[in-house]
Amino acid sequence: MAQYTYLIVGGGMTGDAAVGGIREVDKSGSIGVISAERNPPYNRPPLSKGLWKGQSEEEIWRGTGDQGAELHLGRRASQLDVGDRRVTDDRGATYSFDTLLLATGGTPRRLPFGGDSIIYYRSYDDYRHLRELTERGRRFAVIGGGFIGSELAAALAMNGKSVVMLFPDEGIGARLFPPGLRRFLNDYYRDKGVDVRAPETAAALERKGAGSVLRTKSGEKFEVDGIVAGIGIEPNVDLAKAAGLRVDNGVVVDEFLRTDRHEIFAAGDVASFYNPALGKRLRVEHEDNANTMGTAAGRNMAGKDQPYHHLPFFYSDLFDLGYEAVGDLDGRMQTVEDWKEPFREGVVYYLRDGRVRGVLLWNVWEQVDNARKLIAEPGPFRPQDLKGRLPA
Ligand code: NAP
Repeated sequence: MAQYTYLIVGGGMTGDAAVGGIREVDKSGSIGVISAERNPPYNRPPLSKGLWKGQSEEEIWRGTGDQGAELHLGRRASQLDVGDRRVTDDRGATYSFDTLLLATGGTPRRLPFGGDSIIYYRSYDDYRHLRELTERGRRFAVIGGGFIGSELAAALAMNGKSVVMLFPDEGIGARLFPPGLRRFLNDYYRDKGVDVRAPETAAALERKGAGSVLRTKSGEKFEVDGIVAGIGIEPNVDLAKAAGLRVDNGVVVDEFLRTDRHEIFAAGDVASFYNPALGKRLRVEHEDNANTMGTAAGRNMAGKDQPYHHLPFFYSDLFDLGYEAVGDLDGRMQTVEDWKEPFREGVVYYLRDGRVRGVLLWNVWEQVDNARKLIAEPGPFRPQDLKGRLPA
């Protein structure tokens, strides 16, 4: 049995960040990382952004092993014995720990058809798979209009591919953006050559030669060389649940990122944490949260009792457009749009009960901290108070 002072289940960005956090405090304690992926930890954002715009693959690796962590790759933790402080993996190997971090992330949702012909885009291997298909094929379908769908449709189109994109909502980023911006984005993608079909639902898939034929609910047929889907993820809570830890839309942690067992922590996509500025629990599936929360968890595992009150930001690139955003962005909330140039540059404020709950910085940079401060202010704010509040 391998014995570790610190054991981390999950080899994503959160797991790697936790190794860094531990090493800030404890230079020599033993660290083990169990990861279902066969590759060591890497930065995930380039998979749908930079690697399609010339960024080199060598840059994505995070060098986790260089920090003295032992990596157990291609293994899935299948059992957590809380009383004995022991984890067993899917090959029967066991690992004991003094403190444990659950950084198990999420698993992509799947459609009820299509099997392995659809790439549920999540990992470096998925990137390699799609890259190989683009070397042979020209026509691609993208299912989903969220982060993966919008970034990959743009990436494929920018690489000269013919792209049909379909999703059940009215517009790209429908959950996040106010109606005018969603409509603008659909047209913007169409101007860039993407065949946007919305609202539309993928209904069936048949293999045809080396490619596939995708049928939609409205009866359309698309013959393509590759299909990629991004229809959301489900947090990987099974290990925690089976061990009797509290799970409620993720593994529930306190402000020190501890579960209901003092020596077991959780962080990243899988963790539900309380954010004081918003006054509610969040589960955040973005890079900043993975890095910042992972680091905080690592430090606390090594003995620092620092609360995690960070309000994470997120960002995306959509062809030549880009944004940063912070807080609760829900397209159904009251929004105040302050455009310097409509849909090209401006700030959108999301209001609920007179408070700013979220801020979208559309081609506006270096305002994330100011947006955080605004969200922490008690208000009340009226729409007219917000115009010009952050410089567009
Ligand atoms: P996502 O952003 O949650 O988007 C999922 C989209 O799929 C939603 O628009 C959803 O529509 C749609 N959908 C659901 N069921 C569908 C179906 N049967 N057919 C077609 N569309 C369907 O998730 P994602 O794009 O898959 O991304 C996965 C995770 O990676 C997310 O956690 C995301 O935050 C993260 N990620 C983040 C970034 C970034 O921060 N820039 C980039 C890439 C990935 P409804 O809204 O109607 O359900």
